[in-house]
Amino acid sequence: MPRVPRASDVIEIFSERSISYAFAGIVSLAFAGLLWRYRGDGMLSGLAITLMVAGVGCIIFAIFCGLQVRKVTTHDLKCPYCESPNVLVAAPTEDLPCTTCNRMIPVIDGKTVPVSQVRCGFCNELNFYSEKTEVLLCESCNHEIPIAHDESGAPRKTIPAAFVVVDDEAMYELQLTGHGKHKEEELIGALQHILALNRGQVKQMLAELPVTVLTGITRKKAEMLKAQLGLYEGEVEFHPMEEVRR
Ligand SMILES: [Zn+2]
Ligand SMILES: [Zn+2]
Repeated sequence: MPRVPRASDVIEIFSERSISYAFAGIVSLAFAGLLWRYRGDGMLSGLAITLMVAGVGCIIFAIFCGLQVRKVTTHDLKCPYCESPNVLVAAPTEDLPCTTCNRMIPVIDGKTVPVSQVRCGFCNELNFYSEKTEVLLCESCNHEIPIAHDESGAPRKTIPAAFVVVDDEAMYELQLTGHGKHKEEELIGALQHILALNRGQVKQMLAELPVTVLTGITRKKAEMLKAQLGLYEGEVEFHPMEEVRR
């Protein structure tokens, strides 16, 4: 199906047409008037009449185009990303780019599809996706961001209400890559507390860096633990867990 045109484009086309035909009509009539005035012995009267008819035709067509402008119906579409209005002549039949933010507005059955937000696990940039998104690449760093898929592996068809407001639903794993020497005791104490391990187990762990400390935690929790362990000079990294390892 052809893309539904924007109302502003259609109005511009009709207006331009109307103005150029009106101009052509006026010029033709002026020439016709001049020829008629100096038609002499009738040699030029045929040409004058032809021009007059053409000029009147042009002006009628210009008026018709002018009236079309007023008849353009509008269909307001709000961009689900930046909320700015996009005005079309009818309901959209396919995805279209937003005039303000240039993102593709997802459309199903003439309606925009709600979009969800997710933060990029690599650069923390806020990204958007809808149920039409198959692969989401970060707008800022181009890393692929894992999004929810149903059991068959297809992108999820319905988005539960609770999911729409979730900032980031990916699961993360937390890695301890190193630590300073000055606060080792405090670090061991904190890890004992977080992981419910005894002192010997934690010391064993610290001897084998880098080590995965926790898996399947939310980004918020990972950030919190990173800040907490950072207080004791723990060097922590976290990464989104890959879909396949669920
Ligand atoms: Zn937009
Ligand atoms: Zn990114």
